[in-house]
Amino acid sequence: MATQPPTLDQSQADALVRLSVIHSQQQVGKVAATQTDLRYLWDRVIDPADIAGSFTRFAVGASAYIQQARSDAMPLATRYYRDSQEIAGYTRQEDDNAPLVTVNALEADITALYVTGFVTIQKQLASGASMDFAERAGQAAMLRSAQRRILDAPRQGIIDRAAQSDQTVGWARVGDGAPCYFCAMLISRGPVYSERTVNFRAHDGCGCGAKMCFRNDPSRGWTDQSRALREFYDANKGDWRSAYNREMRNPDSPIRATMNDVPRSSFGLAA
Ligand SMILES: [Zn+2]
Repeated sequence: MATQPPTLDQSQADALVRLSVIHSQQQVGKVAATQTDLRYLWDRVIDPADIAGSFTRFAVGASAYIQQARSDAMPLATRYYRDSQEIAGYTRQEDDNAPLVTVNALEADITALYVTGFVTIQKQLASGASMDFAERAGQAAMLRSAQRRILDAPRQGIIDRAAQSDQTVGWARVGDGAPCYFCAMLISRGPVYSERTVNFRAHDGCGCGAKMCFRNDPSRGWTDQSRALREFYDANKGDWRSAYNREMRNPDSPIRATMNDVPRSSFGLAA
């Protein structure tokens, strides 16, 4: 093992958190562009008079967009990984020069498109919704699912690389500035130390990212963000969802401030 750099100080730790939130936001922003493409494709291709036939054509085109976006997310994740190493004072090892890679799974992408887009339309129609409403609901579900399937790639790439490296002890979840109550609860649990068997628990529409916990971090991956959430969670366990949502609506909330709050504009598409 190479020599360890000095213990992280507060400013390095803060910079690492900031960088990880920015990285999550950048990834979400890139996905928003793909969601726009998917929306245009949907509007062009989906034919209310022939949902089944037109959805097949849509799924072929949409899966190509999703696979491209997944590949495009990896250079950004690679740069984030290297920048974090640099901030933490680690020198790059041989393996770190390889770009983070992802595996495309065409069949799973097509399945996800059907399970969200097509199935939502059928369910809405079956419950008496208008075609227009059903189509919009299907599109929204499809966009949120596509986001998760794209972002899973950089998240897993970072987790896998961290698991292989002797510079890190684990990884932690980081919000995109304004995570939902469910993700905030997961962030409040702090870093994950076990290795690559741990999958990132993400819901459709989730903008969270993964952050490495470096070996020279005296807090072992706990951040001001996760500590503040942990305290707040412990004090509001019984009523977590509404307590957290109330904080996030309050511009003066210290909890909201510690999330590095930035408006989630890109979520408008998938809302
Ligand atoms: Zn999330």
